[in-house]
Amino acid sequence: MSLPFDELGEGVFRRRYASLDLNIGVVIGGDGVLVIDTRASHGQAEELRTEIGGLTELPIRWVVNTHWHWDHTFGNAIFPDAAVWGHRRCRDYLIEHGEEAKQGAIGWAGEANRAVIEAVVIRPPEFVVDPDGSIDLGGRTVRMEWLGLGHTDADLVVTVPDVGVVFAGDLLEEGAPPYYGDGYPFAWQDTVNELRGRTATMTVPGHGDVMNADAVADQCEEIAAVAAACAEGLASGVFDPSHGPYPSETMSSAWERAKLERRVED
Ligand SMILES: [Zn+2]
Repeated sequence: MSLPFDELGEGVFRRRYASLDLNIGVVIGGDGVLVIDTRASHGQAEELRTEIGGLTELPIRWVVNTHWHWDHTFGNAIFPDAAVWGHRRCRDYLIEHGEEAKQGAIGWAGEANRAVIEAVVIRPPEFVVDPDGSIDLGGRTVRMEWLGLGHTDADLVVTVPDVGVVFAGDLLEEGAPPYYGDGYPFAWQDTVNELRGRTATMTVPGHGDVMNADAVADQCEEIAAVAAACAEGLASGVFDPSHGPYPSETMSSAWERAKLERRVED
């Protein structure tokens, strides 16, 4: 049986799931395994845990949440022996709004799966990163950095420097437009430019295929074009969602968030 993981560098894997086209990262160190994001339900997380067991016998000792969205955090409770890390606002959000976030997950999973989502035990990160930190896995270090507002207020970029692999969370998305519903369209362009400056042989977005430097640069330009369109809309008072790098539904969502973001800044 071939393993469902892609090895991106020695002991660094990603698992791309058909469900939500989600990417999970797995980093193996001398002392144990670090998992990046935990999927959308206990059942999905149990599947992930089983698959990791086919990769190594080392214990799963660390989990990092790239941000607080349910598809990245609802499996946290399935790794009881692991220390869960995340941005301070990822922890705060899950404490304050984790139960509410189940409604979004039910919207995706469907009423037939309501019980599956309601059964999720919300487990916020116990270890917070603000703005950066690192974890020693034994012979290798993993870096976690908050580079600014973007897809949410709590996006961590997770880097494995010895192999040049970067896990970008949903700051980048391949094969589909980025999700702006909780985003900061103006700040996001600066945050991804900062991310682009990181030396990476390979970048793993939160969803979709692995990205090379050109693909990252292309998405940075698209995100900048969204910001420019929103700035023009604010200046003129007219926003046309049919003009932009992404479908009008995404552009409209970005526009709503841009108005909020600018109000916060003023
Ligand atoms: Zn997300």
